[in-house]
Amino acid sequence: MIGMRVWYNVMRLNAKARIVRVEASKVGKHMEQTNPTFEVTNPATCEIIARLPIHSTDEVRAAVQRARAAQPAWEALGSEGRARIMRKLRRVAVAHKEQMIATIVAESGKPRIEALTEILYLADVLTYYCANVKKFLADENVAVHLVKTKRALVTYHPFGVVGVISPWNFPLLLSASDTVAALMAGNAVVLKPSEVTPLTALLLRAMAKRAGVPEDVFQVVTGLGDTGAALVDEANLIAFTGSVPTGKKVAERAARTLTPVLLELGGKDPMIVLQDADLDRAVAGALYGGMMNAGQVCISVERVYVEAPIYDQFVQRLVDGVGKLRVGADPDGRDNIDMGPLTFARQLQIVEQQVADARAKGATVMTGGHRREGVGLFYEPTILTDVTDDMLLMQEETFGPLLPVIKVADADEAIRRANDSRFGLSSSIWSRDKKRAEQLARRIEAGSTVINDVIINYIVPEVPFGGIKESGIGYRHGGRDSLRRFTRPQSILIDRLNLKSEVTWFPYTPRVSRLLKTVMNLLYKRK
Ligand code: NAD
Repeated sequence: MIGMRVWYNVMRLNAKARIVRVEASKVGKHMEQTNPTFEVTNPATCEIIARLPIHSTDEVRAAVQRARAAQPAWEALGSEGRARIMRKLRRVAVAHKEQMIATIVAESGKPRIEALTEILYLADVLTYYCANVKKFLADENVAVHLVKTKRALVTYHPFGVVGVISPWNFPLLLSASDTVAALMAGNAVVLKPSEVTPLTALLLRAMAKRAGVPEDVFQVVTGLGDTGAALVDEANLIAFTGSVPTGKKVAERAARTLTPVLLELGGKDPMIVLQDADLDRAVAGALYGGMMNAGQVCISVERVYVEAPIYDQFVQRLVDGVGKLRVGADPDGRDNIDMGPLTFARQLQIVEQQVADARAKGATVMTGGHRREGVGLFYEPTILTDVTDDMLLMQEETFGPLLPVIKVADADEAIRRANDSRFGLSSSIWSRDKKRAEQLARRIEAGSTVINDVIINYIVPEVPFGGIKESGIGYRHGGRDSLRRFTRPQSILIDRLNLKSEVTWFPYTPRVSRLLKTVMNLLYKRK
């Protein structure tokens, strides 16, 4: 959808000044002169770095129509043919990692190393899909237990056009992971990235084109919520990653056309620290899990439950650890900061509102608790104690650098309180007794639980990832479902015996009735 001029500008200016400037007048030939535009801002400098078109309903429909026309030839390449192109995409992405890092950093403000890990993940997941696509999408012969006169197989077909709608917190990873999986499965993709961080998606699209993905097979439409809503109306399947309220809107809208949706939504992940935990590792894990990407991770640690005997020590070490975090921007690319700004102003307001609410209700701010003076959307990493369950920061997703630490009497109380939430994305348990931790993990109501680590579960492509309760619905990615969720299964049953008729066909007679009853008694009566 967006012409190569965007790619050109992004690449050239990244190389020159590590900043992306895309003016509306320079956006490619597909953009109508009349398009309204939106601005993309660098959250570390508050500079406007790009102005992009808001694509209309008609433009989204046209993009989906082009994608639908291009999809059969892409599917016809077969899994091996598509994997060849996707391997090339991996090479292109790795070769252009500096431009990609600069773009991600410019529009999200995150530390360069966190941008680099997004590219690493893309390269790894492409490797995993390329190695397994043939196996995951192969026809399956199925053994039939009763109707032995038929051979059964299941075949997997792409949906056609998959609409991917993505958030801003991992501009590459969360646009790319569904996009590449849907493409691998033989679909065309129309991606609607977040309006906060759309430049990385445009770069991804340009890289895919360079790797050989046909122009209409993978398109990007830019805009606000209405552009996403238009995509919901047109695509054959929607893969949505974002907040719970928007996820509900997407599900409601998709219900009008009975379009299937995959929803990856928000979280309020608990971390449970038992008294026999390795304290050094648990403290370092809480810091990383709570403050990585300034806490803007769907599987951030958002609530820490610590057993009473180690509570005071844990809090003290956590506060000491926060004191060592280097918060700021890294304009010279020295890789020497740990935490960047919040990515956009609304997110900063949510954090400020939750801290004000917690203070008003009696929480103690052990460290942080305020916005950093000066330019940029920086908020101090914050540890809170004396928190109660009625506070906003215990009820709502924060998506910011806040860690409430709660004292609990024992593991039972920790699990009860961890489960007392409408979210159920991920979770972690910390203990030297891994057997006990594993048993306790089974009692946590979440899509995943990590023992003695955090966040890592997203990047292990062999295991399912996805939420329960309000954290998501639909097939998860992970293992063969990563690709199969972008296909519709079709069962094919083939008659083996070539008889002139079947016992259960017309005409119905007393003899048929006796036969069926005998079979039923033989098979089911005594068991
Ligand atoms: P958001 O819901 O505000 O927006 C997500 C996307 O939806 C954006 O592209 C937006 O433009 C689009 N959109 C907005 N209104 C729409 C509508 N009516 N119809 C269709 N599309 C619409 O979310 P966000 O603020 O961009 O992202 C943060 C949220 O994403 C957090 O809640 C976070 O937990 C969640 N998230 C979940 C996962 C996961 O895997 N479960 C991963 C990352 C982020």
